[in-house]
Amino acid sequence: MNWTLTRDENFNFRAAHWADLHSLLYNGLPPNIFLWGHLYLSFCVSNDKSNVRLKAKILQTGEIIEIVGELLIAADGCLSSIRRNFLPELKLRYSGYCAWRGLLDFSDDGHLEAIMGLRRVYPDLGKCLYFCLGYGTHSVLYELLNNKINWICAMKVSSDMIKKMHEDAEKVWVPELARIMKETKEPFINVIYDCDPLEQIFWDNVVLVGDAAHPATPHGLRSTNMTILDAAVLGKCLEKWGVVLGFQQRTTRNRSTLGEFQSTRLPVTSKQVLHSRKMGRIKQGLVLPDRKAFDPKMATPEECHDLQQKNMPFFGQVPSIFQWTHASFDC
Ligand SMILES: Cc1cc2nc3c(=O)[nH]c(=O)nc-3n(C[C@H](O)[C@H](O)[C@H](O)COP(=O)(O)OP(=O)(O)OC[C@H]3O[C@@H](n4cnc5c(N)ncnc54)[C@H](O)[C@@H]3O)c2cc1C
Repeated sequence: MNWTLTRDENFNFRAAHWADLHSLLYNGLPPNIFLWGHLYLSFCVSNDKSNVRLKAKILQTGEIIEIVGELLIAADGCLSSIRRNFLPELKLRYSGYCAWRGLLDFSDDGHLEAIMGLRRVYPDLGKCLYFCLGYGTHSVLYELLNNKINWICAMKVSSDMIKKMHEDAEKVWVPELARIMKETKEPFINVIYDCDPLEQIFWDNVVLVGDAAHPATPHGLRSTNMTILDAAVLGKCLEKWGVVLGFQQRTTRNRSTLGEFQSTRLPVTSKQVLHSRKMGRIKQGLVLPDRKAFDPKMATPEECHDLQQKNMPFFGQVPSIFQWTHASFDC
């Protein structure tokens, strides 16, 4: 039996396939800034803190090269090896479950029946995100541009995983959704973890951004947005302090830039990481210190309202740095 726990008609959200997002970014940037097939190895900051020297390996030839820059922006993901230099003891926190993920491309007619079945059960597909809650598990389902269905299904890991996942899916989800999972060629599994918010995200002229700065569980559907906003805010801070301090010492400029970046982003991302963690535990039916395990059958309207994605702290808020203009400093 299926029923709707909560519904948000005004959820302002866009979903995109990674490949589309990557090609947008790639095409928007000068091609010579990409160094494909380079593995970062190590870095060292100069004594006067004015530059960073980085070692990288060219994977095709094995050659080790050095790159010198003013800033090192670590966007090397949630397992960041750059972060490990500053926080060697930091441990990621296992959320208690894993997520199966899959992308079904239904451009050809081979999946017509499955898609029609799915649309019957989820009539708003293409216009919204569906969060489906079962007992001790949950799934997410949405349509992407160019005839693609993206699905995520959280569950504990078991031995013969794919088979078990299909069997579990048949028991828990409506047959139409279970079929989509079965017809997806190569579903893959992600272990879900996050970490407690960091107290600092820059040291001299090295700064962490994206998942390196704030590994989060995916329940806020926010991590990519957090990462893009990090990049946008850092860009604005660089622009602002470059103009304000002109050619003053690089170290002063870097400190001001990264200090403002940290004070703008850290309070926001810290709350968002903790909110995502809470949402994950609620949706997965796990207990929280201040509430009992969520039971879809017994849920009160208030509890159901808590499930809405728009409750994410700072949802829809634009960082104030975007109001900064050159004119503000003309006087
Ligand atoms: C199950 C799951 C579901 C998710 N769902 C969503 C969702 O619905 N919406 C959403 O917004 N986000 C989602 N996310 C999160 C999203 O994928 C990340 O937040 C986002 O990719 C972070 O971007 P990033 O650039 O910081 O890190 P990444 O995308 O991880 O990129 C880091 C890059 O650094 C490279 N790298 C690492 N080490 C080195 C090295 N030594 N040398 C060279 N390169 C290196 C890696 O190869 C990688 O390309 C989900 C994540 C998971 C696990």
